[in-house]
Amino acid sequence: MLKTKYIFITGGVLSALGKGVAAASIGNILESYGFTISILKLDPYLNVDPGTMSPFQHGEVFVTDDGAETDLDLGHYERFTAAKMSQQNNWTAGKIYNNVIQKERRGDYLGKTVQVIPHVTDEIKSAIMIMHGKYDVILVEIGGTVGDIESLPFLEAIRQIGLELKDNDSIYIHLTLVPFIKTAGELKTKPTQHSVKGLREIGIQPHILLCRAEISLPDDIKKKIALFTNLKFEDVVSAPDVKAIYEIPLIFKKEGLGSNILKKLNLQKKKDDSEDWEKFVNRVKNLKEEVVISIVGKYIQLNDSYKSLYEALFHGGVENNLKVKLDLVESEDLLKCDLSETFKHSNAILIPGGFGIRGIEGMIKAVEYARINRVPFFGICLGMQVASIEFIRNFIAIKDADSVEFNKYTSNKIFLKLKELINIEELGHNMRLGKFECILKKGTLCYSIYKTEKIFERHRHRFEFNPKFESDLEDNGMIISGRNPERNLVEMIELKDHPWFIGCQFHPEFKSKPLNPHPLFVSFVRSAKEFKKRKKL
Ligand code: GLN
Repeated sequence: MLKTKYIFITGGVLSALGKGVAAASIGNILESYGFTISILKLDPYLNVDPGTMSPFQHGEVFVTDDGAETDLDLGHYERFTAAKMSQQNNWTAGKIYNNVIQKERRGDYLGKTVQVIPHVTDEIKSAIMIMHGKYDVILVEIGGTVGDIESLPFLEAIRQIGLELKDNDSIYIHLTLVPFIKTAGELKTKPTQHSVKGLREIGIQPHILLCRAEISLPDDIKKKIALFTNLKFEDVVSAPDVKAIYEIPLIFKKEGLGSNILKKLNLQKKKDDSEDWEKFVNRVKNLKEEVVISIVGKYIQLNDSYKSLYEALFHGGVENNLKVKLDLVESEDLLKCDLSETFKHSNAILIPGGFGIRGIEGMIKAVEYARINRVPFFGICLGMQVASIEFIRNFIAIKDADSVEFNKYTSNKIFLKLKELINIEELGHNMRLGKFECILKKGTLCYSIYKTEKIFERHRHRFEFNPKFESDLEDNGMIISGRNPERNLVEMIELKDHPWFIGCQFHPEFKSKPLNPHPLFVSFVRSAKEFKKRKKL
Protein backbone atom coordinates (compact mmCIF):
# COMPACT_ATOMS: atom_id res chain seq x y z
CA MET A 1 0.00 0.00 0.00
CA LEU A 2 1.43 3.36 -1.06
CA LYS A 3 1.21 6.50 0.99
CA THR A 4 -1.01 8.47 -1.36
CA LYS A 5 -0.83 12.27 -1.51
CA TYR A 6 -3.62 14.39 -2.97
CA ILE A 7 -3.73 17.45 -5.20
CA PHE A 8 -7.11 19.15 -5.48
CA ILE A 9 -7.59 21.39 -8.49
CA THR A 10 -10.34 23.98 -8.57
CA GLY A 11 -11.18 26.69 -11.06
CA GLY A 12 -12.24 30.28 -10.73
CA VAL A 13 -13.54 33.33 -12.62
CA LEU A 14 -14.88 31.44 -15.63
CA SER A 15 -14.96 28.01 -17.22
CA ALA A 16 -12.99 26.84 -20.26
CA LEU A 17 -9.65 28.00 -18.85
CA GLY A 18 -8.15 24.57 -19.43
CA LYS A 19 -8.36 23.06 -15.96
CA GLY A 20 -8.34 19.56 -17.44
CA VAL A 21 -5.16 20.22 -19.38
CA ALA A 22 -3.61 21.84 -16.30
CA ALA A 23 -4.42 18.76 -14.17
CA ALA A 24 -3.12 16.45 -16.91
CA SER A 25 0.07 18.54 -17.18
CA ILE A 26 0.72 18.30 -13.45
CA GLY A 27 0.20 14.54 -13.72
CA ASN A 28 2.71 14.50 -16.56
CA ILE A 29 5.30 16.39 -14.47
CA LEU A 30 4.86 14.05 -11.50
CA GLU A 31 5.34 11.03 -13.75
CA SER A 32 8.50 12.59 -15.15
CA TYR A 33 9.75 12.59 -11.53
CA GLY A 34 9.03 8.86 -11.28
CA PHE A 35 5.76 8.92 -9.31
CA THR A 36 2.70 6.85 -10.11
CA ILE A 37 -0.45 8.92 -10.43
CA SER A 38 -4.14 8.84 -11.21
CA ILE A 39 -6.54 11.69 -11.91
CA LEU A 40 -10.20 11.97 -10.93
CA LYS A 41 -12.74 14.34 -12.37
CA LEU A 42 -15.73 15.37 -10.25
CA ASP A 43 -18.51 17.02 -12.23
CA PRO A 44 -21.20 18.88 -10.30
CA TYR A 45 -24.04 18.36 -12.81
CA LEU A 46 -26.96 16.00 -12.18
CA ASN A 47 -26.66 13.69 -15.18
CA VAL A 48 -25.38 10.34 -13.93
CA ASP A 49 -22.82 10.46 -16.75
CA PRO A 50 -22.43 12.59 -19.88
CA GLY A 51 -23.55 9.67 -22.09
CA THR A 52 -27.02 11.08 -22.62
CA MET A 53 -25.93 14.66 -23.27
CA SER A 54 -25.77 16.20 -26.72
CA PRO A 55 -22.26 16.80 -28.02
CA PHE A 56 -23.32 20.43 -28.50
CA GLN A 57 -23.93 20.65 -24.74
CA HIS A 58 -21.04 18.75 -23.40
CA GLY A 59 -18.51 18.12 -26.16
CA GLU A 60 -17.13 14.67 -26.71
CA VAL A 61 -18.04 11.74 -24.49
CA PHE A 62 -14.75 9.99 -23.75
CA VAL A 63 -14.97 6.20 -23.42
CA THR A 64 -12.68 4.16 -21.19
CA ASP A 65 -11.58 0.54 -21.62
CA ASP A 66 -14.11 -0.58 -19.01
CA GLY A 67 -16.92 1.17 -20.87
CA ALA A 68 -17.45 4.31 -18.79
CA GLU A 69 -18.91 7.25 -20.71
CA THR A 70 -16.98 10.15 -19.25
CA ASP A 71 -16.01 13.78 -19.43
CA LEU A 72 -13.61 14.70 -22.19
CA ASP A 73 -11.01 15.81 -19.64
CA LEU A 74 -10.33 12.11 -19.02
CA GLY A 75 -9.05 12.05 -22.60
CA HIS A 76 -6.49 14.72 -21.67
CA TYR A 77 -5.50 12.70 -18.61
CA GLU A 78 -4.81 9.60 -20.71
CA ARG A 79 -3.01 11.54 -23.43
CA PHE A 80 -0.71 13.40 -21.03
CA THR A 81 0.02 10.60 -18.59
CA ALA A 82 0.30 6.84 -18.29
CA ALA A 83 -2.78 6.72 -16.03
CA LYS A 84 -5.54 4.40 -17.26
CA MET A 85 -8.99 5.87 -16.82
CA SER A 86 -11.94 3.76 -15.63
CA GLN A 87 -15.46 3.97 -14.17
CA GLN A 88 -13.83 5.16 -10.95
CA ASN A 89 -12.20 8.25 -12.46
CA ASN A 90 -15.29 10.32 -13.22
CA TRP A 91 -17.98 11.16 -10.69
CA THR A 92 -20.94 13.42 -11.32
CA ALA A 93 -23.34 14.83 -8.75
CA GLY A 94 -25.94 12.59 -10.42
CA LYS A 95 -23.87 9.45 -9.79
CA ILE A 96 -23.21 10.50 -6.19
CA TYR A 97 -26.88 11.30 -5.47
CA ASN A 98 -27.91 8.07 -7.17
CA ASN A 99 -25.73 6.12 -4.71
CA VAL A 100 -27.05 8.10 -1.75
CA ILE A 101 -30.68 7.58 -2.74
CA GLN A 102 -30.15 3.85 -3.29
CA LYS A 103 -28.59 3.60 0.17
CA GLU A 104 -31.52 5.51 1.64
CA ARG A 105 -34.01 3.14 -0.01
CA ARG A 106 -32.09 0.14 1.31
CA GLY A 107 -32.29 1.62 4.78
CA ASP A 108 -28.53 1.95 5.12
CA TYR A 109 -28.86 5.25 6.97
CA LEU A 110 -30.73 3.57 9.84
CA GLY A 111 -33.59 6.02 10.09
CA LYS A 112 -31.49 9.19 9.96
CA THR A 113 -32.52 12.29 8.01
CA VAL A 114 -30.43 12.10 4.85
CA GLN A 115 -28.72 15.42 4.13
CA VAL A 116 -26.22 17.03 1.79
CA ILE A 117 -23.85 17.32 4.74
CA PRO A 118 -22.78 14.73 5.84
CA HIS A 119 -24.36 12.10 3.57
CA VAL A 120 -23.69 13.54 0.13
CA THR A 121 -20.30 14.91 1.15
CA ASP A 122 -19.36 11.52 2.67
CA GLU A 123 -20.31 9.80 -0.57
CA ILE A 124 -18.08 12.25 -2.48
CA LYS A 125 -15.26 11.61 -0.01
CA SER A 126 -15.48 7.85 -0.48
CA ALA A 127 -15.47 8.31 -4.26
CA ILE A 128 -12.28 10.37 -3.96
CA MET A 129 -10.62 7.90 -1.59
CA ILE A 130 -11.54 4.82 -3.66
CA MET A 131 -8.01 4.50 -5.06
CA HIS A 132 -6.22 5.42 -1.85
CA GLY A 133 -2.99 3.51 -1.45
CA LYS A 134 -2.75 2.53 -5.11
CA TYR A 135 -0.81 5.56 -6.38
CA ASP A 136 1.84 7.97 -5.08
CA VAL A 137 -0.28 10.96 -5.99
CA ILE A 138 -3.96 11.31 -6.88
CA LEU A 139 -5.09 14.49 -8.58
CA VAL A 140 -8.70 15.50 -8.16
CA GLU A 141 -10.17 18.05 -10.54
CA ILE A 142 -13.44 19.69 -9.53
CA GLY A 143 -15.53 20.71 -12.54
CA GLY A 144 -17.28 24.07 -12.71
CA THR A 145 -16.20 27.32 -11.13
CA VAL A 146 -15.91 28.39 -7.50
CA GLY A 147 -19.10 30.25 -6.65
CA ASP A 148 -21.45 27.82 -8.44
CA ILE A 149 -24.17 26.55 -6.13
CA GLU A 150 -23.88 22.96 -7.35
CA SER A 151 -20.15 22.65 -6.74
CA LEU A 152 -20.47 23.49 -3.03
CA PRO A 153 -20.82 19.88 -1.72
CA PHE A 154 -17.75 18.91 -3.74
CA LEU A 155 -15.68 21.78 -2.36
CA GLU A 156 -16.87 20.97 1.15
CA ALA A 157 -15.82 17.33 0.65
CA ILE A 158 -12.30 18.27 -0.46
CA ARG A 159 -12.02 20.77 2.37
CA GLN A 160 -12.80 18.00 4.84
CA ILE A 161 -10.35 15.57 3.24
CA GLY A 162 -7.58 18.17 3.44
CA LEU A 163 -8.35 18.65 7.11
CA GLU A 164 -8.38 14.92 7.84
CA LEU A 165 -5.13 14.17 6.04
CA LYS A 166 -1.80 15.01 7.65
CA ASP A 167 -0.02 18.25 6.73
CA ASN A 168 1.98 17.83 3.51
CA ASP A 169 -0.33 15.07 2.33
CA SER A 170 -2.61 17.29 0.27
CA ILE A 171 -2.57 20.64 -1.47
CA TYR A 172 -5.09 22.83 -3.26
CA ILE A 173 -4.27 24.37 -6.62
CA HIS A 174 -6.58 27.01 -8.02
CA LEU A 175 -6.73 28.02 -11.68
CA THR A 176 -7.86 31.55 -12.40
CA LEU A 177 -7.88 34.16 -15.13
CA VAL A 178 -5.85 37.36 -15.24
CA PRO A 179 -7.47 39.28 -18.08
CA PHE A 180 -5.61 41.81 -20.18
CA ILE A 181 -7.72 44.91 -20.65
CA LYS A 182 -6.70 46.39 -23.95
CA THR A 183 -8.07 49.91 -23.40
CA ALA A 184 -6.12 50.21 -20.14
CA GLY A 185 -3.16 48.25 -21.49
CA GLU A 186 -3.06 46.36 -18.19
CA LEU A 187 -3.37 42.89 -16.72
CA LYS A 188 -6.09 42.92 -14.07
CA THR A 189 -5.80 40.93 -10.85
CA LYS A 190 -9.20 41.69 -9.29
CA PRO A 191 -11.08 38.64 -10.68
CA THR A 192 -8.36 36.39 -9.24
CA GLN A 193 -8.52 38.14 -5.87
CA HIS A 194 -12.29 37.64 -5.78
CA SER A 195 -12.11 34.05 -6.82
CA VAL A 196 -9.62 33.20 -4.06
CA LYS A 197 -11.78 35.15 -1.61
CA GLY A 198 -14.69 32.88 -2.64
CA LEU A 199 -12.60 29.79 -1.94
CA ARG A 200 -11.38 31.07 1.42
CA GLU A 201 -14.95 31.86 2.47
CA ILE A 202 -15.69 28.16 2.27
CA GLY A 203 -12.57 27.30 4.16
CA ILE A 204 -10.05 26.51 1.44
CA GLN A 205 -6.82 28.49 1.24
CA PRO A 206 -5.15 27.51 -2.05
CA HIS A 207 -1.46 26.61 -1.88
CA ILE A 208 -0.72 27.47 -5.49
CA LEU A 209 -2.41 29.67 -8.08
CA LEU A 210 -2.18 28.96 -11.79
CA CYS A 211 -2.90 32.22 -13.54
CA ARG A 212 -4.14 32.00 -17.10
CA ALA A 213 -3.30 35.08 -19.11
CA GLU A 214 -2.63 36.01 -22.71
CA ILE A 215 0.98 36.65 -21.77
CA SER A 216 3.43 35.59 -19.06
CA LEU A 217 2.74 37.44 -15.81
CA PRO A 218 5.34 40.12 -14.97
CA ASP A 219 6.83 39.90 -11.46
CA ASP A 220 4.98 42.94 -10.11
CA ILE A 221 1.62 41.39 -11.03
CA LYS A 222 2.62 38.10 -9.42
CA LYS A 223 3.68 39.98 -6.27
CA LYS A 224 0.38 41.81 -6.12
CA ILE A 225 -1.63 38.60 -6.55
CA ALA A 226 0.51 36.84 -3.92
CA LEU A 227 0.00 39.63 -1.40
CA PHE A 228 -3.78 39.79 -1.78
CA THR A 229 -4.33 36.04 -1.84
CA ASN A 230 -2.11 35.27 1.14
CA LEU A 231 0.51 33.39 -0.86
CA LYS A 232 4.23 33.53 -1.45
CA PHE A 233 5.56 34.97 -4.70
CA GLU A 234 6.72 31.55 -5.97
CA ASP A 235 3.25 30.11 -5.44
CA VAL A 236 1.79 32.30 -8.16
CA VAL A 237 2.43 30.51 -11.43
CA SER A 238 2.02 31.98 -14.85
CA ALA A 239 -0.02 29.94 -17.33
CA PRO A 240 0.18 31.89 -20.59
CA ASP A 241 -1.62 30.97 -23.83
CA VAL A 242 0.37 28.48 -25.88
CA LYS A 243 0.17 27.22 -29.46
CA ALA A 244 0.33 23.52 -28.61
CA ILE A 245 -1.21 22.26 -25.37
CA TYR A 246 1.50 19.60 -25.10
CA GLU A 247 3.99 22.32 -24.24
CA ILE A 248 2.21 23.14 -20.98
CA PRO A 249 3.94 20.55 -18.73
CA LEU A 250 7.31 21.91 -19.90
CA ILE A 251 6.29 25.52 -19.27
CA PHE A 252 4.98 24.65 -15.80
CA LYS A 253 8.18 22.81 -15.02
CA LYS A 254 10.25 25.80 -16.10
CA GLU A 255 8.13 28.02 -13.85
CA GLY A 256 9.16 25.81 -10.92
CA LEU A 257 5.69 24.36 -10.41
CA GLY A 258 6.95 20.77 -10.24
CA SER A 259 9.55 21.34 -7.54
CA ASN A 260 7.15 23.58 -5.62
CA ILE A 261 4.54 20.80 -5.55
CA LEU A 262 7.16 18.27 -4.38
CA LYS A 263 8.26 20.62 -1.60
CA LYS A 264 4.71 21.19 -0.42
CA LEU A 265 3.90 17.47 -0.49
CA ASN A 266 7.24 16.58 1.06
CA LEU A 267 8.21 14.29 -1.80
CA GLN A 268 11.68 13.66 -3.22
CA LYS A 269 11.89 13.12 -6.95
CA LYS A 270 13.10 9.69 -8.03
CA LYS A 271 14.26 10.94 -11.46
CA ASP A 272 13.67 13.86 -13.79
CA ASP A 273 12.96 12.75 -17.30
CA SER A 274 10.94 14.80 -19.77
CA GLU A 275 13.25 14.06 -22.68
CA ASP A 276 10.78 12.24 -24.93
CA TRP A 277 8.10 14.80 -24.21
CA GLU A 278 10.52 17.63 -25.11
CA LYS A 279 11.44 15.87 -28.34
CA PHE A 280 7.78 15.61 -29.23
CA VAL A 281 7.17 19.31 -28.53
CA ASN A 282 10.20 20.24 -30.62
CA ARG A 283 8.88 18.21 -33.50
CA VAL A 284 5.53 19.98 -33.16
CA LYS A 285 7.25 23.36 -33.36
CA ASN A 286 9.12 22.41 -36.52
CA LEU A 287 6.31 21.04 -38.64
CA LYS A 288 6.35 22.59 -42.09
CA GLU A 289 4.51 20.67 -44.74
CA GLU A 290 0.74 20.58 -44.44
CA VAL A 291 -2.05 18.22 -45.45
CA VAL A 292 -5.72 19.14 -45.46
CA ILE A 293 -8.16 16.64 -44.00
CA SER A 294 -11.89 17.23 -44.35
CA ILE A 295 -14.01 16.13 -41.43
CA VAL A 296 -17.58 15.59 -42.55
CA GLY A 297 -19.50 15.65 -39.30
CA LYS A 298 -22.70 16.74 -37.64
CA TYR A 299 -21.28 18.48 -34.58
CA ILE A 300 -18.49 20.47 -36.18
CA GLN A 301 -19.59 23.89 -34.84
CA LEU A 302 -18.32 22.97 -31.41
CA ASN A 303 -14.59 22.35 -31.19
CA ASP A 304 -14.93 20.04 -28.20
CA SER A 305 -17.30 17.58 -29.92
CA TYR A 306 -14.51 15.66 -31.60
CA LYS A 307 -11.70 16.43 -29.16
CA SER A 308 -9.93 13.05 -29.18
CA LEU A 309 -10.34 12.76 -32.94
CA TYR A 310 -8.62 16.10 -33.58
CA GLU A 311 -5.83 15.15 -31.16
CA ALA A 312 -5.36 11.74 -32.81
CA LEU A 313 -5.07 13.38 -36.24
CA PHE A 314 -2.57 15.81 -34.76
CA HIS A 315 -0.51 12.92 -33.31
CA GLY A 316 -0.66 11.10 -36.65
CA GLY A 317 0.53 14.29 -38.33
CA VAL A 318 3.47 14.83 -36.00
CA GLU A 319 4.58 11.23 -36.53
CA ASN A 320 4.73 11.99 -40.27
CA ASN A 321 6.25 15.46 -39.67
CA LEU A 322 3.11 16.97 -41.12
CA LYS A 323 0.81 19.73 -40.00
CA VAL A 324 -2.77 18.53 -40.26
CA LYS A 325 -5.08 21.32 -41.31
CA LEU A 326 -8.67 20.45 -40.50
CA ASP A 327 -11.35 21.43 -42.97
CA LEU A 328 -14.62 21.14 -41.04
CA VAL A 329 -17.60 20.33 -43.23
CA GLU A 330 -21.19 20.29 -41.96
CA SER A 331 -22.64 17.13 -43.48
CA GLU A 332 -26.16 18.57 -43.68
CA ASP A 333 -24.95 21.27 -46.06
CA LEU A 334 -23.41 18.80 -48.51
CA LEU A 335 -26.70 17.98 -50.18
CA LYS A 336 -26.72 21.37 -51.85
CA CYS A 337 -23.01 21.36 -52.75
CA ASP A 338 -20.88 20.44 -55.71
CA LEU A 339 -18.49 18.12 -53.92
CA SER A 340 -15.58 18.60 -56.28
CA GLU A 341 -15.73 22.25 -55.25
CA THR A 342 -16.18 21.45 -51.51
CA PHE A 343 -13.26 19.03 -51.46
CA LYS A 344 -11.08 20.92 -53.93
CA HIS A 345 -8.27 21.37 -51.43
CA SER A 346 -8.79 18.17 -49.41
CA ASN A 347 -6.16 15.48 -49.25
CA ALA A 348 -8.38 13.05 -47.33
CA ILE A 349 -11.91 12.75 -45.97
CA LEU A 350 -12.95 11.47 -42.56
CA ILE A 351 -16.45 10.80 -41.23
CA PRO A 352 -16.52 10.58 -37.44
CA GLY A 353 -19.01 9.08 -34.99
CA GLY A 354 -22.49 10.43 -34.41
CA PHE A 355 -26.09 9.63 -33.62
CA GLY A 356 -29.40 10.23 -35.40
CA ILE A 357 -30.57 10.80 -38.95
CA ARG A 358 -29.63 14.46 -39.41
CA GLY A 359 -26.79 14.84 -41.90
CA ILE A 360 -26.65 11.17 -42.99
CA GLU A 361 -27.47 11.71 -46.67
CA GLY A 362 -24.71 14.34 -46.91
CA MET A 363 -22.27 11.85 -45.41
CA ILE A 364 -23.29 9.22 -47.94
CA LYS A 365 -22.57 11.71 -50.73
CA ALA A 366 -19.12 12.37 -49.22
CA VAL A 367 -18.32 8.62 -49.07
CA GLU A 368 -19.36 8.20 -52.69
CA TYR A 369 -17.10 11.07 -53.69
CA ALA A 370 -14.12 9.60 -51.81
CA ARG A 371 -14.74 6.09 -53.14
CA ILE A 372 -15.05 7.11 -56.79
CA ASN A 373 -12.30 9.73 -56.77
CA ARG A 374 -9.89 7.54 -54.80
CA VAL A 375 -9.55 10.12 -52.04
CA PRO A 376 -8.24 8.56 -48.79
CA PHE A 377 -11.29 7.84 -46.66
CA PHE A 378 -11.62 6.98 -43.00
CA GLY A 379 -15.03 6.18 -41.49
CA ILE A 380 -15.25 5.90 -37.73
CA CYS A 381 -18.25 4.18 -36.14
CA LEU A 382 -21.13 6.10 -37.78
CA GLY A 383 -18.63 6.80 -40.57
CA MET A 384 -18.11 3.07 -41.10
CA GLN A 385 -21.86 2.51 -41.09
CA VAL A 386 -22.55 5.13 -43.76
CA ALA A 387 -19.63 3.83 -45.82
CA SER A 388 -21.19 0.35 -45.85
CA ILE A 389 -24.63 1.72 -46.66
CA GLU A 390 -23.25 3.88 -49.47
CA PHE A 391 -21.46 0.91 -51.02
CA ILE A 392 -24.53 -1.31 -50.90
CA ARG A 393 -26.81 1.44 -52.19
CA ASN A 394 -24.66 2.85 -54.96
CA PHE A 395 -22.28 0.09 -55.99
CA ILE A 396 -24.49 -2.95 -55.50
CA ALA A 397 -27.63 -0.93 -56.28
CA ILE A 398 -29.77 -1.99 -53.33
CA LYS A 399 -31.34 1.42 -53.25
CA ASP A 400 -33.17 1.27 -49.94
CA ALA A 401 -30.18 -0.05 -47.96
CA ASP A 402 -30.19 1.68 -44.59
CA SER A 403 -29.61 1.39 -40.87
CA VAL A 404 -32.67 0.91 -38.67
CA GLU A 405 -31.40 3.95 -36.78
CA PHE A 406 -32.42 6.06 -39.79
CA ASN A 407 -35.21 3.98 -41.33
CA LYS A 408 -36.94 1.36 -39.24
CA TYR A 409 -39.11 0.14 -42.10
CA THR A 410 -36.61 -0.44 -44.87
CA SER A 411 -36.57 -3.95 -46.31
CA ASN A 412 -32.77 -3.87 -46.50
CA LYS A 413 -31.57 -3.34 -42.97
CA ILE A 414 -27.78 -3.12 -43.17
CA PHE A 415 -27.37 -2.14 -39.52
CA LEU A 416 -29.44 -3.63 -36.75
CA LYS A 417 -29.58 -3.33 -33.00
CA LEU A 418 -27.37 -5.99 -31.44
CA LYS A 419 -30.31 -7.47 -29.56
CA GLU A 420 -32.25 -7.99 -32.83
CA LEU A 421 -29.17 -9.52 -34.36
CA ILE A 422 -28.48 -12.10 -31.72
CA ASN A 423 -32.08 -12.47 -30.62
CA ILE A 424 -31.61 -11.56 -26.99
CA GLU A 425 -34.19 -9.25 -25.49
CA GLU A 426 -32.17 -7.76 -22.66
CA LEU A 427 -28.53 -6.90 -23.00
CA GLY A 428 -28.15 -4.90 -19.83
CA HIS A 429 -26.82 -1.86 -21.57
CA ASN A 430 -28.31 -0.94 -24.88
CA MET A 431 -24.97 0.20 -26.23
CA ARG A 432 -21.78 -1.71 -26.84
CA LEU A 433 -19.39 0.22 -24.64
CA GLY A 434 -15.69 -0.07 -23.91
CA LYS A 435 -12.92 -2.41 -24.93
CA PHE A 436 -13.57 -5.36 -27.27
CA GLU A 437 -11.29 -7.72 -29.08
CA CYS A 438 -10.98 -7.64 -32.85
CA ILE A 439 -9.18 -10.16 -35.06
CA LEU A 440 -7.66 -8.79 -38.23
CA LYS A 441 -7.53 -10.68 -41.50
CA LYS A 442 -4.01 -11.31 -42.73
CA GLY A 443 -3.04 -9.69 -46.01
CA THR A 444 -5.38 -6.70 -45.56
CA LEU A 445 -4.45 -3.03 -45.34
CA CYS A 446 -5.69 -3.01 -41.73
CA TYR A 447 -3.41 -5.89 -40.84
CA SER A 448 -0.44 -4.17 -42.47
CA ILE A 449 -1.18 -1.04 -40.42
CA TYR A 450 -1.55 -2.73 -37.03
CA LYS A 451 1.09 -5.38 -37.81
CA THR A 452 -0.66 -7.80 -35.52
CA GLU A 453 -3.67 -10.07 -35.65
CA LYS A 454 -5.32 -9.37 -32.32
CA ILE A 455 -6.27 -5.80 -31.36
CA PHE A 456 -8.41 -4.20 -28.67
CA GLU A 457 -10.35 -1.03 -29.35
CA ARG A 458 -13.07 1.00 -27.62
CA HIS A 459 -16.68 1.01 -28.74
CA ARG A 460 -19.72 3.22 -28.20
CA HIS A 461 -22.61 2.32 -30.46
CA ARG A 462 -25.96 0.57 -30.65
CA PHE A 463 -26.05 -0.80 -34.17
CA GLU A 464 -24.13 -3.64 -35.83
CA PHE A 465 -23.58 -4.79 -39.37
CA ASN A 466 -26.23 -7.30 -40.48
CA PRO A 467 -24.41 -10.55 -41.42
CA LYS A 468 -26.96 -11.20 -44.18
CA PHE A 469 -25.17 -8.57 -46.26
CA GLU A 470 -21.61 -9.77 -45.68
CA SER A 471 -21.43 -11.63 -48.97
CA ASP A 472 -22.79 -8.58 -50.81
CA LEU A 473 -19.83 -6.64 -49.54
CA GLU A 474 -17.22 -9.28 -50.09
CA ASP A 475 -18.37 -10.36 -53.56
CA ASN A 476 -18.12 -6.79 -54.77
CA GLY A 477 -14.70 -5.64 -53.66
CA MET A 478 -15.15 -4.68 -50.03
CA ILE A 479 -13.09 -6.70 -47.55
CA ILE A 480 -14.21 -7.43 -44.01
CA SER A 481 -10.80 -7.00 -42.45
CA GLY A 482 -11.66 -7.14 -38.75
CA ARG A 483 -14.13 -9.17 -36.73
CA ASN A 484 -15.12 -9.49 -33.12
CA PRO A 485 -14.33 -13.15 -32.33
CA GLU A 486 -16.92 -13.52 -29.59
CA ARG A 487 -20.00 -12.76 -31.70
CA ASN A 488 -18.44 -12.69 -35.17
CA LEU A 489 -19.45 -9.04 -35.61
CA VAL A 490 -18.02 -6.95 -38.44
CA GLU A 491 -15.57 -4.45 -36.93
CA MET A 492 -13.48 -3.24 -39.87
CA ILE A 493 -14.02 -2.91 -43.59
CA GLU A 494 -11.77 -1.78 -46.41
CA LEU A 495 -12.10 -1.30 -50.13
CA LYS A 496 -9.88 -3.51 -52.28
CA ASP A 497 -9.20 -1.24 -55.23
CA HIS A 498 -8.63 2.01 -53.44
CA PRO A 499 -5.45 3.58 -52.05
CA TRP A 500 -6.84 4.02 -48.50
CA PHE A 501 -10.46 3.36 -47.64
CA ILE A 502 -11.09 2.02 -44.15
CA GLY A 503 -14.10 1.93 -41.87
CA CYS A 504 -14.05 0.78 -38.26
CA GLN A 505 -16.95 0.19 -35.92
CA PHE A 506 -14.85 1.31 -32.93
CA HIS A 507 -13.25 4.62 -31.94
CA PRO A 508 -9.47 4.40 -32.36
CA GLU A 509 -9.11 8.09 -31.49
CA PHE A 510 -9.58 7.33 -27.78
CA LYS A 511 -6.32 5.42 -27.64
CA SER A 512 -3.99 7.76 -29.51
CA LYS A 513 -1.29 9.48 -27.48
CA PRO A 514 1.39 11.98 -28.45
CA LEU A 515 4.24 9.57 -27.78
CA ASN A 516 2.26 6.59 -28.98
CA PRO A 517 0.19 7.76 -31.93
CA HIS A 518 -2.52 5.40 -33.12
CA PRO A 519 -1.33 3.43 -36.19
CA LEU A 520 -4.58 4.03 -38.12
CA PHE A 521 -4.18 7.79 -37.82
CA VAL A 522 -0.48 7.66 -38.67
CA SER A 523 -1.25 5.66 -41.80
CA PHE A 524 -4.29 7.78 -42.74
CA VAL A 525 -2.36 11.06 -42.52
CA ARG A 526 0.46 9.50 -44.55
CA SER A 527 -2.06 8.50 -47.21
CA ALA A 528 -3.26 12.13 -47.31
CA LYS A 529 0.30 13.22 -48.05
CA GLU A 530 0.58 10.61 -50.82
CA PHE A 531 -2.73 11.75 -52.29
CA LYS A 532 -1.50 15.33 -52.28
CA LYS A 533 1.63 14.26 -54.15
CA ARG A 534 -0.42 12.33 -56.72
CA LYS A 535 -2.71 15.31 -57.22
CA LYS A 536 0.24 17.57 -57.99
CA LEU A 537 1.66 15.25 -60.68
N1 GLN B 1 -25.31 5.89 -34.15
C1 GLN B 1 -24.50 4.75 -34.43
C2 GLN B 1 -24.76 3.62 -33.46
O1 GLN B 1 -25.26 3.84 -32.39
C3 GLN B 1 -23.02 5.13 -34.39
C4 GLN B 1 -22.53 5.55 -33.05
C5 GLN B 1 -21.18 6.23 -33.07
O2 GLN B 1 -20.76 6.73 -34.09
N2 GLN B 1 -20.51 6.26 -31.94
O3 GLN B 1 -24.49 2.49 -33.75
